[in-house]
Amino acid sequence: MEQTVEILGIPFYNVSQNAFIEELMGAAANNERRFVVTANPEIVMHAQQDIAFNQAVLNADYIVADGIGVVKAASSIGKPLQGRVTGYDTMLGLLKRANEMKMRVYFLGAKPNVIEKVVEQVQINYQNIEVVGARDGYFSAEESALIAEEITASEADFVFLALGFPRQEKWIAANLENFKKGIFIGVGGSFDVFSGCTKRAPGIWVKLNLEWLYRILSQPSRWRRAMAIPRFMAAVQRQRKQG
Ligand code: UDP
Repeated sequence: MEQTVEILGIPFYNVSQNAFIEELMGAAANNERRFVVTANPEIVMHAQQDIAFNQAVLNADYIVADGIGVVKAASSIGKPLQGRVTGYDTMLGLLKRANEMKMRVYFLGAKPNVIEKVVEQVQINYQNIEVVGARDGYFSAEESALIAEEITASEADFVFLALGFPRQEKWIAANLENFKKGIFIGVGGSFDVFSGCTKRAPGIWVKLNLEWLYRILSQPSRWRRAMAIPRFMAAVQRQRKQG
């Protein structure tokens, strides 16, 4: 089985959700540093038109398939991936394991009221986690350097960034060299869901792989963004014919 599957220039790590969580746990336990990108079709398409973002993404230690679109694309070019590895599920899995191991976590992103609720939820449901920092995601360029210093000083084992793409990946890539340890992962809108401020799709939609459709229907402003999916599928088919 191939270790990575390349789709439109992005090498996707071929791993199951659980194995990935355990791999990151191992790295964190050894005080290592990792940069994780969970890439959906929208991210792959954006990387094609934003060079700085493309470089940031390719700088990651792992790029995993966030979304059924990427998994389907991999199958369609005859190189199947083991399954979806989403930002949200990776975050939940890591929090569970970090709680068991009494590890240190830093949360950066989302609106002030959301980040407050995220910390509350962690304190209630993951009592052994040490929250070594939490900040909302609306900060200036000057504050950015201070935040990076604060993260280094916190010696966080895990740093979850919910700034939305491409910002979260660019931020991690720009500051990575200064960090000595920690698992850095961009988790998009996950804090909004985790805090209960936005509902994730009901289980049945997820099971039927229709979470994307649920999101569009419940938040019609996402429609334009969702148009990246058919563009992505068409580009993958072109790549397949050329390849
Ligand atoms: N966000 C932020 N700072 C910003 C812009 C956005 O912290 O300057 C947060 C926003 O509050 C939300 C998340 O980033 O929690 C983006 O969510 P979205 O669902 O758009 O992200 P995606 O999963 O599509 O990357």
